[in-house]
Amino acid sequence: QVPLKPGRSLMDWIRLTKSGKDLTGLKGRLIEVTEDELSKHNKKEDCWIGIRGFVYNVTPYMEYHPGGEDELMKAAGTDGTDLFDQVHRWVNYESMLKECLVGRMAVKPIGAPKANILMALLFAGVLPEKKVLASSKDLTPRKYIFFSLLYFLFYSYDWFQTESLITIVIYTKQKDMNAELVIVDCQDKQLRGEIIIDDHSYLVEVDLDHAVSEDVAVNIAEKVGKVEIILNKKDDIHWKMLGQPLEGHNTFIKRTDRGLFYRKCKLVSKTEVTHDTKLFCLMLPKGTHLCVPTGQHIYLKQIIAGTEVVKPYTPVLPFLPLDFKEPPRQDGVHIYLMIKIYSHGLFTQALDQLQIGDNISVSNPEGSFKKSQVQTSEDLLLLAGGTGFTPMVKLLNFALTEVSCLRTVKLIFFNKTEDDILWRNQLEQLALKHERFEVQFILSQPSKDWVGKQGKISSSLLSEFVKRSRRDSKVLICICGPAPFTEQGVQYLKDLGYSQEEIHAFTA
Ligand code: FAD
Ligand code: NAP
Repeated sequence: QVPLKPGRSLMDWIRLTKSGKDLTGLKGRLIEVTEDELSKHNKKEDCWIGIRGFVYNVTPYMEYHPGGEDELMKAAGTDGTDLFDQVHRWVNYESMLKECLVGRMAVKPIGAPKANILMALLFAGVLPEKKVLASSKDLTPRKYIFFSLLYFLFYSYDWFQTESLITIVIYTKQKDMNAELVIVDCQDKQLRGEIIIDDHSYLVEVDLDHAVSEDVAVNIAEKVGKVEIILNKKDDIHWKMLGQPLEGHNTFIKRTDRGLFYRKCKLVSKTEVTHDTKLFCLMLPKGTHLCVPTGQHIYLKQIIAGTEVVKPYTPVLPFLPLDFKEPPRQDGVHIYLMIKIYSHGLFTQALDQLQIGDNISVSNPEGSFKKSQVQTSEDLLLLAGGTGFTPMVKLLNFALTEVSCLRTVKLIFFNKTEDDILWRNQLEQLALKHERFEVQFILSQPSKDWVGKQGKISSSLLSEFVKRSRRDSKVLICICGPAPFTEQGVQYLKDLGYSQEEIHAFTA
């Protein structure tokens, strides 16, 4: 993110798009854009970018881009889809840039089929890895049909019925299948069941033949990787078919190639955590099965002044449980978000206006953190700045409950003032209760009464607090906070001799 000039906030951009000004220079006309034509618009004062087959004139948006003009210019005159997906595929550009739409990209001849089907075979254990990767690019049509057939034979779903139930069965062949890897939404006869397999996703998406009740059950046979989605028929009639396939039905593709799916959740409570931070409790719809994995975030979507705005948030627990005898189970019904309300924040101001009972759209989870990183460590060090504490909540709980090989768990929590410290009391209680856990608060703008540590993230502070419990102990350091805090922190850690593999930075 770069500092934007005054009058160049997202709200200012939304106002400009509603002003009726011609932002494309084409007076509302939509045109077909060839690659050649696109490439001519590659300057700051005349910049077009292609995203998913559509071309936008982003010249008027330059000064409003939170990532800066130079970032936007990287895609000038080209298809920027890959770059966009790498940086912020969750940003709703269709809504934000709709007034900048120049037209569609001219259709190119269709190339070789994607490697998805081959990847499916790979996961189904049908093909050895080398063969798949080597042959994915140049499939002849005959081979394509052959592999497609294999795909449907080995990686697919089945369904059956009783008088009152419909059961959809997916055989994933994944040994460690679990509830976090299955996301189901069933509303108004539309069923969407997504199975996450590493960085890929398999989808069952059907317009059901008949009505079902709101409740959905998911059964997982973890060892064999069998997933059952169980629906209750509204009427005791025999179904001739499951329903009509929808767009993404029976596909196995990279997760990043799937659009973000949202469902409406109800705000059930909002409680104060500090003077500016609140704990929002959202309730998932009855037909949804969704558990957000430790270390992952979701996106919230609101319509603000007629434009869809999306921001990421990291679910926490309702509180830090002190009793770690039982591994905590997510109830599968509620999502808790700890959110700081900024006095000039576009999204958080709108969020704060929500009333109990209002709805808000919540996406599927995303994020690159893997629990296995913790399971193989002896020391876990968590560096948090402000609300950068949020990913640490579930992580702490997981580490202290389920990872017995960890010798030390230490949270180093940076805040401006004492009043800004989130869940200070709970953290102190936790430290008293658990020998393995230690917390250190560091304030950058303390009052004169503060007797604790003060300062900003720095090499010297980190060398004081970030230490291995033994000379060669395996360490994992997780860091999250304002972007410059995280970036500088990672650099200091590297300067102190920690390797990239020992550091996980939470980012979007
Ligand atoms: P914005 O309108 O973006 O502004 C935020 C503040 O910055 C305001 O005070 C504004 O005046 C100021 N500001 C805006 N632009 C500039 C600028 N160019 N120069 C200087 N100041 C500026 N937040 C949480 O509270 N809880 C979470 O759990 C959480 N999880 C996150 C997870 C991820 C992966 C990421 C990337 C972020 C997360 N965030 C979280 C931050 C969240 O996504 C939003 O960025 C945050 O809520 C602010 O949104 P906003 O629209 O209200 O603020
Ligand atoms: P804040 O209160 O403004 O700052 C928290 C601490 O970080 C303060 O001590 C502050 O010191 C310090 N800090 C701020 N900017 C710094 C910088 N440039 N260099 C060094 N130290 C700096 O924080 P906040 O308002 O809660 O914001 C939290 C941030 O975390 C947001 O940007 C949010 O997007 C991010 N976040 C990310 C994720 C994720 O998963 N990626 C999750 C949650 C939150 P001073 O300001 O006094 O210098």
